[in-house]
Amino acid sequence: MTAALKLWPLLTATHRYDKSLSTRNRDAGKMIQAPILAYLIETTQGRILVDVGCDFSKINTPAKASHYYNPQTFEFGAPEMLEEQRLPHYFSRLGLTMADVDVAFLTHLHFDHAGGLCDVCNHENCRVEVHVQKEELDAANSGSDVAYFDNEVIAQANWKVMDGEYEIAPGVRAIATPGHTAGHMSLWIELPKGAPIILAGDAADLQENINDEIAPGICWQENDALAIESIRKLKKIAAQESANLWPNHDLNFWRTLKQFPEFHE
Ligand SMILES: [Zn+2]
Repeated sequence: MTAALKLWPLLTATHRYDKSLSTRNRDAGKMIQAPILAYLIETTQGRILVDVGCDFSKINTPAKASHYYNPQTFEFGAPEMLEEQRLPHYFSRLGLTMADVDVAFLTHLHFDHAGGLCDVCNHENCRVEVHVQKEELDAANSGSDVAYFDNEVIAQANWKVMDGEYEIAPGVRAIATPGHTAGHMSLWIELPKGAPIILAGDAADLQENINDEIAPGICWQENDALAIESIRKLKKIAAQESANLWPNHDLNFWRTLKQFPEFHE
């Protein structure tokens, strides 16, 4: 019996970038608009936040923006992030605060997935358990990928460093999908109604990555074969279990999902 009750996709920002960042070696020069998503899962055992979006201040404070999103070093440019897209804002619309989060599950530690931790642990005695893979943390600390921002992966309270696949709660399971990053994880979610959902995370930015089995533009140590293997793994699980596989940065796909405050159940 699954513990998951409800699932809210949360649009935390949008990012305009070269499509080849999502589809490796394909469509360079074509710009796309991508949603940056987090997801809130309510379970009988507490609330799980899946990814946390960007650090608002790094985008909207000019001095910080010119440091972190300097076009000289960071070719993607800054996402667009509105005040009302910050996680505490969504939580307040549900009558909640960030103290109501029990687990923050990070698919990986890139800036658009881990940066918002400062908004999650924005209260005293933060007790959020932050789940991240050991390999992912080691890679982020190695400084070898520009999409890991410094001071987002250090000094956070209550990190729970995991190694491999595991169950977060009954019906909610972390699936190892390395390739985009060293320790990337996807998430299996069984809701009370309907087919199970697999959040691909950045294992598959776009539906096209799934359909055509094409690697994301950024691959850890350029190992695109590993990224494609992970896409195939997710497709196989989805086919075997009749689950729906959700891409993570696909604007057209996102428009088909429940729009906040509506939720999947
Ligand atoms: Zn991403």
